[in-house]
Amino acid sequence: MSLTSEYTKKVLDEVQYNHPNEPEFLQAVKEVITTIEPAVKQEEERYKKTALLERLTEPERIISFRVPWVDDNGQVQVNRGYRVQFNGTLGPYKGGLRFHPTVNQSIMKFLAFEQVFKNALTGLPIGGGKGGSDFDPKGKSDNEIMSFCQSFMNELQKHIGQDIDIPAGDIGVGGREIGFLFGQFRRIRNSYEAGVLTGKGIEYGGSLVRKEATGYGLMYFMREMLNANNINLQNKTAIISGSGNVAIYAAEKAMQMGVKVIAMSDSNGCIYDNNGINLDVIKKIKEVERGRIKDYLQSCPNVQYYENNSEIQAIYNIKADIVLPCATQNDINIECAKRLAENGVIAVGEGANMPCTIEAANYFIEQGILLAPAKAANAGGVATSALEMSQNSMRYFWSFEEVDNKLENIMINIFNMCQQAAQKYNCPKNYIAGANLAAFKKVADAMIAQGII
Ligand code: NDP
Repeated sequence: MSLTSEYTKKVLDEVQYNHPNEPEFLQAVKEVITTIEPAVKQEEERYKKTALLERLTEPERIISFRVPWVDDNGQVQVNRGYRVQFNGTLGPYKGGLRFHPTVNQSIMKFLAFEQVFKNALTGLPIGGGKGGSDFDPKGKSDNEIMSFCQSFMNELQKHIGQDIDIPAGDIGVGGREIGFLFGQFRRIRNSYEAGVLTGKGIEYGGSLVRKEATGYGLMYFMREMLNANNINLQNKTAIISGSGNVAIYAAEKAMQMGVKVIAMSDSNGCIYDNNGINLDVIKKIKEVERGRIKDYLQSCPNVQYYENNSEIQAIYNIKADIVLPCATQNDINIECAKRLAENGVIAVGEGANMPCTIEAANYFIEQGILLAPAKAANAGGVATSALEMSQNSMRYFWSFEEVDNKLENIMINIFNMCQQAAQKYNCPKNYIAGANLAAFKKVADAMIAQGII
């Protein structure tokens, strides 16, 4: 889709000119600007006068810092840490921390930019941010992970607080890492600010359902989207890329909804079991042993394992009704999208952030394949993080059912917002446009109300 307004064209050109080496950030901005154009055109003069789009695409602040730590051999290692505080209009910055060797400024900025819109869709008072490091937790001992987390927090603590910026987990950052980060924050500040991080252990201020929230939320959104299109989830087959936090709990909820999950993956390859994956085995491998998905064969020798050795990840060659990309960005390119369409996929639910390239996403929409966009469909994680913050402020706990019900209602509400916005702007089944339009309107109105800052 090409832009027709001079203002949106100018802003996108400027972003491209100013950030030529940030492809992921450019991709995220391009998708948003292209889809919100109809709303921008309705109030173009007002937005131009307040440089709304220029401000919306420029982070309020980027913090980048050195993270030195000592490995088990006594060698000093140095990584780079980031926190991008993108937009605090709706509330304190909120968004996860990613520890992965591919982390760079472009990836941090794309994730933080997406987070602004995602958080707006939750209806909760949270702004958008993201952070992380190029540190690779794979193969590190618990001691090395702790040493890294403590050094990372020594610097990060200068920039966060329960009313300022509240990080959580993302790729490579789960309960273990949040525990080490929280411990170091508490030690440095000599203050028990439970609400400064979310995804904490249940024993020290965490919320029930937070661990499950992104995956469960994805499936609540999928159910609503499919129902709205007269499709029942019962007895459908699904493939899920990844086998981390989001993938595991998307699989769990999918199975509870009567879906047969036949394949899951990690960055090396995928397992395929036409009788349905045994999720207990996956949880043991990934949550307890921190092993590889191939280890599944030791417990279930009759399933198939395919290595990733071509442009299209092995899992996407498997035929299924539903595809849930829950690993990382740009997992599904146009070739992959065509393969999935040939195999008869009916719906794609983005558990990961930006798992489809723009071409792949457009192709799905053109082919009438339903696409649940990440910033809406995976918002259950951050929404439940905000519920964790509420419980911390109240010094009170809700039961599993209470939190799960709130999560489900939030996801139903998010789907309805996306659907209504898509209908209002004449693109009824384009939920990407719906999500961007609904979120944009909220953020834009609040930014204008708060003046030129
Ligand atoms: P985890 O670290 O728990 O799991 C990540 C999974 O994705 C692993 O199976 C990993 O395999 C796989 N993966 C990572 N990078 C690649 C790659 N380059 N190629 C193939 N596979 C890869 O992370 P999460 O489950 O928390 O996050 C997954 C996605 O969901 C991310 O996009 C994240 O931003 C998004 N998300 C997460 C939320 C949360 O609450 N955790 C909330 C909203 C979105 P391997 O072990 O081989 O690296």
